[in-house]
Amino acid sequence: MFVGSGFPTPTGGDLSGAWEQIQAALRKSIRREQFETWFRRAGLRSFGPEGVHIVVQNGFAADWLRSNYMNALEQATRAVFGQGWPIVIDIDPELSAQARPRSPDEPAAPMPVAAPATNGVHQRAPREPRGNAPESGLLWSSDVALNPHYRFDNFVVGPCNRFAYAAAVGVSESPGKSYNPFFLHGSVGLGKTHLLQSLCYSLLERDPQTRILYLSCETFINHFISALENGDLQKFRNKYRNVDVLVVDDIHLLANKERTQEEFFHTFNTLYNASKQIVLSSDSPPKEIPTLQDRLVSRFKWGLVTEIEKPCYETRMAILKRKSRERGKELPDSVAQLVAEHIDSNIRELEGAVNRLLGYASLNNLDVTPDLARHVLRDIFVSPKGQPSMDDVLRLITSHFQLKVTELQSRRRTKAIAHPRQIGMYLARTITRHSLEEIGGFFGGRDHTTVLYAVEQIEKQMKSDDRFRASVQGLLSQLRR
Ligand code: ADP
Ligand code: MG
Repeated sequence: MFVGSGFPTPTGGDLSGAWEQIQAALRKSIRREQFETWFRRAGLRSFGPEGVHIVVQNGFAADWLRSNYMNALEQATRAVFGQGWPIVIDIDPELSAQARPRSPDEPAAPMPVAAPATNGVHQRAPREPRGNAPESGLLWSSDVALNPHYRFDNFVVGPCNRFAYAAAVGVSESPGKSYNPFFLHGSVGLGKTHLLQSLCYSLLERDPQTRILYLSCETFINHFISALENGDLQKFRNKYRNVDVLVVDDIHLLANKERTQEEFFHTFNTLYNASKQIVLSSDSPPKEIPTLQDRLVSRFKWGLVTEIEKPCYETRMAILKRKSRERGKELPDSVAQLVAEHIDSNIRELEGAVNRLLGYASLNNLDVTPDLARHVLRDIFVSPKGQPSMDDVLRLITSHFQLKVTELQSRRRTKAIAHPRQIGMYLARTITRHSLEEIGGFFGGRDHTTVLYAVEQIEKQMKSDDRFRASVQGLLSQLRR
C-alpha cells in the first residue's frame, strides 16, 4: 500500500511530473527488470476522475499490463492522486516512443514499429494484434524500435560483410526456405543489428502481412521470467510461437540462463518444424557462447552461420564517406584517411567520429581539416592514460597467458584458466571503473560474488608471494602505459 507514502500530489495537467511519481511508486512494488521491461517506455496520456490513461507502444505490451499489472498500477496511482481512479491502458506507438529516454549513442529517434514507412509505398495505419491471434502484417514486439536508418540500401558492403549481407538479403527473399536458422555473429558495432532490422523491413516490403517478431534476447528473457512468475506460460508460448519470422538480437545473452534456454529450445523447434524463419545474432559463434546447451548449439548450426568481420581500410573509408554524405557533407580524403587509420574495429565509433567532427565544424563554422579532426577527436588519437578498457584487460590476459577470450569466459575451472581469469578480474577491479557485476559480465556472465572472491584471492596471494606480486604489478603497469 502506498497510502500516505509522501508523494506530493501533482498539479492538474502536469503529465510528466505525475508519470514520474507513478513510476517511482511502481518501482517500489515490482522488480527492477519488470519495471524496465514494461514501464520505462510507457507514458501517461491524461489523468482525472474519468480515468488514468497509460499508453504503451503495442498490443502485446497492453495485454501484458492488463493481465499482470493492474493491481500494481491501481496502487501506484492511488498513492499519487489520492483517489482510486480507473486505469485505462491505451496503445500509442508515438507517445510511448517519446516517453522512452534515448541513450546518448543511439542514432536518430527510432521509428516505433507498427506499419513500416516503406518509401511511401505501403503507408498503412498502425494496427495492433489482439490477444493470441495477432492480426497479420504487423511487426509486434515489446521493444519495438526498428530504426528507419537500418536499411539494406544504406549498408556499406565490403569484403568483411559481403557474405553476411548477401545471406540477409537471401533470407528476406525467401524466409523459412534458404537458410534456417540464419545465425549472424561478430563483435560489437559491426552492423549485426543493422542487418537484422534491414531484413525485417525488406520482408515487410515484400509482404506487409508477414508476422515478424523482432526483439532483443533480453526481452525474451524478461518476458519469460514474468510469464513464469505470473503462471502465464501458455499465453507466452502462444505469442512467441505464432509468428512467421522470429528475429532475436544478441542471442549470446542466453549464456547461463538455463531455463530460458530450455524454453527457447522449444520455441525454436515449434517454429522450425512449421518452416518458420528464425534469425539470430550473437557476439560469438554458437559453440563459443558460454554454457549454451549442446542441443541449441547444434540447432543454431543447422542453417547458415556467418560471421561479420572487422571492416578493412577501404570499407572504413567508404563508411566514413557515406555517413558524412548522409549528413549532407563531403569529408575530405585526407580527413577520412586519418580517421580510418585510427578507428579500425568498430563501425559505431566511425559513425560517432563523423557526427562529432561535422557537428563541431558546423557549430563553429570551421572547415573540416586534418588538424580540426586531430583536435576534435583527440581522445581517439591519443589513448587516455590510466583509463584502460575491459578490452585492454582481456587482451593483456589472453596474450600473456596464451589463452582465448572464450576460454576466460567459459565455465572451465582448470587452474591454467581459472587463475588467469582471477588475475583478469583483479586487474579489471583495480584499474577500470566497472562494477563487480559488470566485470563478472565480461568474464562469461559470472556473479559479482565470484569477482569479489577472485579479487580477494589475488590480493592474498600478492601479500604472501613476492614474485607473484611483482608479476601482477608488471601487468598493471603495462595497462597504465
Ligand atoms: P552491432 O549490432 O553489430 O553491435 P550495429 O548494427 O548496431 O552493430 O551497428 C553499429 C552502427 O554502425 C549502426 O549505426 C549501423 O548503422 C552502423 N553500421 C554498421 N555496419 C555498417 C555498414 N556496413 N554500413 C553502414 N553503417 C553500418
Ligand atoms: Mg546489436
